[in-house]
Amino acid sequence: MSWPDSVPHPCACLRPNAPDSLGALVKQSIVTLDMEGVLTPEIWIAVAERTGIAELRRTTRDEPDYDQLMRYRIGILDRHGVTLSKIQEVIASLPLLPGALDFINALRQRTQVIILSDTFEQFAQPLVRQMGWPTLFCHRLVVKDDRIAGYALRMPDQKRHAVAALQSLNYQVIAAGDSFNDTSMLAQADHGFLFHAPENIVKQFPQFPALHDYPELLQRITEKL
Ligand SMILES: [Mg+2]
Repeated sequence: MSWPDSVPHPCACLRPNAPDSLGALVKQSIVTLDMEGVLTPEIWIAVAERTGIAELRRTTRDEPDYDQLMRYRIGILDRHGVTLSKIQEVIASLPLLPGALDFINALRQRTQVIILSDTFEQFAQPLVRQMGWPTLFCHRLVVKDDRIAGYALRMPDQKRHAVAALQSLNYQVIAAGDSFNDTSMLAQADHGFLFHAPENIVKQFPQFPALHDYPELLQRITEKL
């Protein structure tokens, strides 16, 4: 339904490009961060170490095809009888990366932050609790009798779509991530940084500045706000 001409639109007071800037629209900034490898340890590597199943060490850093990686992981868990509770027990014992909490607290004092992760609701909770419950967009596991039977993406390429959606709300988006599954988010963002990324990804994506410590990342993000 279109707005009737006879009734003043509620946004009539907003005058984009008004010369005196009174009532003008303003672009604001928001930050999107990957979680694993950027703020927390890699969940699957921790599970590999704790269960002694070395094949679970394969991550998005090694395998760019996420669906293939997840099928591979679920097959291994099944063969070894590793339940969701066992994995949750491991995750609950994982500390954040050293310095991550100070970094995210400092960042959240400057601007809004959303964590965009390809992990799952069932895995993420103990980690976001440690960070004071920042907003997290992720996926969901399909669980049957404590067995991980599959996974359900909320949508494919959700990180890039989230950034594009925020931009459509007149946000400038600054993003940081460490893996293949972050690169479409970094490309879509107004400013994208690789953080803690391994050498192969830094080499393959030279268009994104590669940063390695939190004070530097905080400074580079703050400069763009
Ligand atoms: Mg990551």
